Amino acid sequence: MNAAEIRSRFLKFFEKNGHTVVDSSTLVPKDDPSLLFTNAGMVQFKKVFLGQEKRAYVRATTSQKCLRVGGKHNDLENVGRTARHHTFFEMLGNFSFGDYFKADAIRFAWTFITEELKLPKDKLYVSIYKDDDEAGELWQNVAGVAPERIFRLGEKDNFWSMGDTGPCGPCSEIYVDQGADMACGPDCGIGKCDCDRYLEIWNLVFMQYDQAADGTRTALPRPSIDTGMGLERIASVVQGKRSNFETDIFRALIDFVADKAGVKYHKDKDTDTALQVIADHSRSIAFLITDQILPSNEGRGYVLRRLIRRAFRFGRLIGLTDPFLHETARQVVAQMRDAYPELLSNQEFMAKVIREEEERFSQTLDKGLAILEEELARLKAEGNGGGVTGEFAFKLYDTFGFPLDIVNDVAGKLGVSVDEPGFMACMKEQKQRAKKAWKGSGEKDVASMFQSLLESGLKTKFVGYGAMEADGRIV
Ligand code: ATP
Ligand code: MG
Ligand code: MG
Ligand code: MG
Repeated sequence: MNAAEIRSRFLKFFEKNGHTVVDSSTLVPKDDPSLLFTNAGMVQFKKVFLGQEKRAYVRATTSQKCLRVGGKHNDLENVGRTARHHTFFEMLGNFSFGDYFKADAIRFAWTFITEELKLPKDKLYVSIYKDDDEAGELWQNVAGVAPERIFRLGEKDNFWSMGDTGPCGPCSEIYVDQGADMACGPDCGIGKCDCDRYLEIWNLVFMQYDQAADGTRTALPRPSIDTGMGLERIASVVQGKRSNFETDIFRALIDFVADKAGVKYHKDKDTDTALQVIADHSRSIAFLITDQILPSNEGRGYVLRRLIRRAFRFGRLIGLTDPFLHETARQVVAQMRDAYPELLSNQEFMAKVIREEEERFSQTLDKGLAILEEELARLKAEGNGGGVTGEFAFKLYDTFGFPLDIVNDVAGKLGVSVDEPGFMACMKEQKQRAKKAWKGSGEKDVASMFQSLLESGLKTKFVGYGAMEADGRIV
């Protein structure tokens, strides 16, 4: 069963069970400054859960575009390190807005995976929140799961919240045992380690509270259900693979990049990581631009810039010297356009934006890398000292456009640390300096300066946010 089929089976199953199929929302959450990107299916329903918005339905199901880079959920560094994390992924979900609660959520999930997808029950385990006796009983009575397959975990794993504030509640997760030979060691187990043996596939959140900024929790008007299952993960299980990167979602993309670079997948660990990172980031990049994000030095645009530059650098490692991401993004479009038609209408624009960013970065990448390598050699000769200083990393950023991720990747490979707080301090200082210089110009605000430029007869051209520097200068 390919991923498209699993996605459609999921939506149909829940539709048959009274859920309205709702389109994925964009990666940029609407009216929600607390969140950089949509990181779960429930984001578009936040106000509905809070009782602030009414919909024509009380049950919904979606396949939601999600991005986990930056913010509370950041999986950037997990990509390629684990077999199950991506920056961009699709979350399949079913939602109840004050309608059904724990018993039905458990029944639906269990029926879908054991009857529709026919996963073997002897490979399945579940976790519950340590105090949630009700969920424990329901797993036994409704789904027939044996008590020794039910694990009680604490706040960190089994209490879900979207951010520091908002809807939250105890949760319950379903795991698939991928085999004893994947164990990370004698202490491997659910809640004990973070390896890929027990693959978390589905999280059922029993939404009962609204959390305020000071941490206090008040009961939601009516308890609700929010669930999320990663399409890439369930696809790997259904397709009998042990890594998401082996599924039909990723293989064609990886093979395309490998072909282009003239390398083979599964021959060398570093090459595999590079191929996986490139395939992963290509999807994020294509979807971000489609959702109207452009590379910049601030906020969401900077996340996009980082992804492009990081993927481009990994390309260099497998011998790709010319811009290539604009082509891998086209592959993403070809593969995903049926499910997300918006990709196709943006394709040409997307390819152009990516190519420009690749070209811009390729001019400085080699110089920056040479300087970084020189510094790493010097540090090695001196016994690594305190690692790469914040000032040094900042100089690479400021002069060569090196995002910190790349310095981390290159230095980390040699076991050399990077002073991230020092880097942040330099960045902050530069911003403050720029702010001061701005005030010193004697202008009250941007609007008045713009006005005076116009009055003095200067022709101005909007160059786009893409050309905005970290300190807010338009260059
Ligand atoms: P993990 O513990 O593996 O990092 P999580 O507990 O952070 O996952 P949830 O927030 O519970 O994940 O999200 C619900 C589901 O979404 C997960 O059970 C998983 O199937 C999927 N998922 C979460 N993060 C990712 C990711 N980075 N890439 C792919 N799928 C993901
Ligand atoms: Mg996680
Ligand atoms: Mg988890
Ligand atoms: Mg989880």
